[in-house]
Amino acid sequence: MSCKECYSDNPYATPMLRPRECLEKHTQYICGTCGRCICIERDEKRGLRRWNFPFKSLKIEKLYVRTAEYTAQRKCFIYEIISKSGRKSYKIFSAPSELEEYLKKNKNKMCSGNKPIWSSDEYIDYPNTQFKKLKENELEVYLKHVLDNK
Ligand SMILES: [Zn+2]
Ligand SMILES: [Zn+2]
Repeated sequence: MSCKECYSDNPYATPMLRPRECLEKHTQYICGTCGRCICIERDEKRGLRRWNFPFKSLKIEKLYVRTAEYTAQRKCFIYEIISKSGRKSYKIFSAPSELEEYLKKNKNKMCSGNKPIWSSDEYIDYPNTQFKKLKENELEVYLKHVLDNK
């Protein structure tokens, strides 16, 4: 069963890349429903968060879409993007106009079907969500689950 708040069926699915570094250095969206930590740190240089980047599968993209929704305070959409070379990737936008902007700036990319392949039903605020860097003891416990889970 997927978590109703963060859409993951695994509360230890993230962080995927360099989990210790991410948990130590980055503010996490901590799901108030299942406890999953989702990186929501804003990159100082480019002003981007993890969810702003393209992902190589819908499954991975879905793990980050809740942080996009929280940032936008509305429901978001996942689109399948195809490059000229035929490579597929997945990106989150909170409105069709954002997708249009992106395609205008990236002439070598197209969107499959020009419609989203996934979105949640509606945006809901959850009362128990936390935003923080984990304390050392919390981090070790959480990290152990993440690593056991790989
Ligand atoms: Zn991170
Ligand atoms: Zn959750």
